[in-house]
Amino acid sequence: MGANGRGVEERRGTGGWDTILESERSLQPGSEWQSELYRVAVSQFQRGADLLGLEDEIRARLLEPRRALVVNFPVRLDTGEVRSFTGYRVQHTLTMGPMKGGFRYGPGVSLGECAALAMWMTFKCALVGLPFGGAKGGVRCDPNRLSADELERVTRRYASEIFPIIGPDRDIPAPDVATGEREMAWFMDTYSQQVGHPVPEIVTGKPLVLGGTEGRDIATGLGVVFCIEDLLKGDDEPLDAQRAVIQGLGNVGATVMRELAQRGVTIVGVSDVTGGVVDDDGLDPATVEAWVAEHGFLRGYPHGTHVGRGEVLEQPCDLLVPAAVENQITAENAPRLEARWIVEGANGPTTPEADQILADRGVEVLPDILANAGGVTVSYFEWVQDQQKLAWQGTEVATRLRLQLNDAFARVREAKERQATDWRTAAQAVAIARVAEASRLRTIYP
Ligand code: NAD
Repeated sequence: MGANGRGVEERRGTGGWDTILESERSLQPGSEWQSELYRVAVSQFQRGADLLGLEDEIRARLLEPRRALVVNFPVRLDTGEVRSFTGYRVQHTLTMGPMKGGFRYGPGVSLGECAALAMWMTFKCALVGLPFGGAKGGVRCDPNRLSADELERVTRRYASEIFPIIGPDRDIPAPDVATGEREMAWFMDTYSQQVGHPVPEIVTGKPLVLGGTEGRDIATGLGVVFCIEDLLKGDDEPLDAQRAVIQGLGNVGATVMRELAQRGVTIVGVSDVTGGVVDDDGLDPATVEAWVAEHGFLRGYPHGTHVGRGEVLEQPCDLLVPAAVENQITAENAPRLEARWIVEGANGPTTPEADQILADRGVEVLPDILANAGGVTVSYFEWVQDQQKLAWQGTEVATRLRLQLNDAFARVREAKERQATDWRTAAQAVAIARVAEASRLRTIYP
């Protein structure tokens, strides 16, 4: 008998094995979300869930997003020509409170990518103890080929297309790859025009004068550095004796570079989408930042040695901080990496196969859901301030961020040691346990 109870002959009769197997595969749970990144997110989740002994019922509920909206919309380009864009908003769980997650622009943005990122957001928020479920969105486009006016029209139209499922108590977007304060201001304005009054709390990561918070711009990078401090303290290693390589010089990578250098770390390699630069004697972060601010990219930087963007990851160092995009540390390059610790500023930079190779080689990997949780933590602070119509000082934001991350770090360390596992699996298990408990308490409606 076949899996569905029908006989083999009958199955053969409906169109051949290949067709049947193909159609059965497409009926498997999760087939809508298929993507390399979703595979990675599911694999990490399953390890954490296995460690917890999570029951199948809750496991199945957490494996797939609850809602997704796919939108296609026209935008007039500066040339007068009209182009169609595809956008997404995926909401992973509605159990914990409103949903929270950034939106990004890039040629590879897809439903499956947003599903994986939304799932990580759920566990990141749970790990830090924020009252949110995870979400993620984006528009498939090449932002480097669109003018500021075109990006504004894309952002405004995307905001109005996903209007039905967002709101300050429903789903609160934020910056991610290729989006920042400017896009958040356009987004907030568009939402406010639709409802007829200003709603600053619809997005976080806004400019300060529009209800943004002190410290949001550096929050993710600062959080990465706080986690590095905790990690090294635990290993009794002085921070100022370390050498670091940073991949990505955007919001996260540039902040990590600056904050690590301020703490005495030698920056021996950096990269962006145009390539890498290494220098054993140390690069000057201020000069790197000034060059990128003026020229847009690292290309042409007049100091250090230029290398390929893959090569920079293999530069000998203590700390490697991938802070660019996903899928950068794979089975292919993991055997050649020479770092002692990898701290994930980006979401999903390491594949499960690379994780295994690195673990066998004794390289510790501090996972994204802990290391880059500073961004969503300060986004939460921004949302709280907006709701209460008050503004905290920068020092208060930084102090609260440190406390919240130290606490999450301590819980992950305790789970890691108690369960004799790796950082990622411990972090997943701590986060999944919290969401699972909430799911059990709310039971199932009706
Ligand atoms: P960003 O757009 O500001 O910067 C991305 C940087 O990565 C740029 O310097 C770009 O040139 C570089 N880059 C792109 N592809 C590259 C490649 N193949 N090799 C080397 N460099 C490459 O984005 P960001 O906001 O800094 O986000 C970076 C990562 O951090 C993403 O994975 C994002 O999801 C994650 N993250 C961001 C935030 C946030 O608050 N911005 C919060 C949590 C996680």
